[in-house]
Amino acid sequence: MSNLTFSIEVFPPKDSTAVGEIYNTLEQFAALSPDFISVTYGAGGTARGLSAEISGYISGSLAIPGVAHLTCVGATKDNIRDTLSDFKARGVKRILALRGDLPEGEASLGDFRHADDLIAFINDFGGFEVYAACYPEGHSESKNFAADVEVAKRKYDMGVTRFVSQLFYDNEDFYRMRDAFAAAGVNAPISAGIMPITNAKQILRIVSLSGSKLPAAITKAVARFEHNAQAFYQAGINYAVSQITDLLSNGAEGIHLYSMNRPKTAEDIYRNIGSLLEGAKE
Ligand code: FAD
Repeated sequence: MSNLTFSIEVFPPKDSTAVGEIYNTLEQFAALSPDFISVTYGAGGTARGLSAEISGYISGSLAIPGVAHLTCVGATKDNIRDTLSDFKARGVKRILALRGDLPEGEASLGDFRHADDLIAFINDFGGFEVYAACYPEGHSESKNFAADVEVAKRKYDMGVTRFVSQLFYDNEDFYRMRDAFAAAGVNAPISAGIMPITNAKQILRIVSLSGSKLPAAITKAVARFEHNAQAFYQAGINYAVSQITDLLSNGAEGIHLYSMNRPKTAEDIYRNIGSLLEGAKE
């Protein structure tokens, strides 16, 4: 059976007043029948408490596996134990275990130094399937790419069943990472993180958050179409579709769409890749 998954990532609203909207958004994503929907945790200052609630809603009411991201930076063991109990009570069975970004100048904070400490803790707690992050262009703090591969191998040996990648725009970076993982015996499927660039403002944010480099095909489209929002949007969708087409043709085992909570973007992409996903699952 194919390991290929199509998944969508959402973030909780910053405060509970916008909660109604996210449920409406989730229903639109559910119509695309993703294999899982993941929910970020505390990223960009979003409400942490809502992550468990939203992941539970996805797993329960929408009957789609919900994957709750969980970061450990700054947390105590008691904090994490409480959160895991909350996930369990809400029927969440999968966790994307992350360290989280360190505040400037800190080497570590709280009871957990790295994501692997969190994975060990979740394993001891029991009852969850664990996913982990990976970085096609390397993690910004890593001394070299080999160090990242070692980290991935350790996580795989601890039972991680899937890696979800940081967003990237040059598929060669993804293939290089995939080959290095395979050579090191990291045999879990890797979902490729795709973030469509649909407006010019997004670009600075993407580069500052992920450090991802932008291929000439994107910078040229920006230069050519930034004056026309509709043309720019179309160029962004087209780039994402061509990136995904190439990934699927080259045997990628997962497409993970950073949705920015925008159903229209996901629908516009899905329309162009739905049958490719079906074909690649055969
Ligand atoms: P780690 O695995 O701890 O790695 C961090 C650095 O330490 C790397 O350089 C690694 O090589 C090194 N390292 C790892 N283990 C060891 C070790 N045992 N000894 C020495 N060095 C080690 N952030 C959020 O706040 N909320 C989210 O919801 C969120 N979702 C994300 C989803 C995805 C798919 C990705 C790719 C990232 C996400 N992030 C999120 C960002 C993430 O928290 C940061 O990238 C963070 O800096 C690293 O997290 P990690 O789990 O990879 O950490």
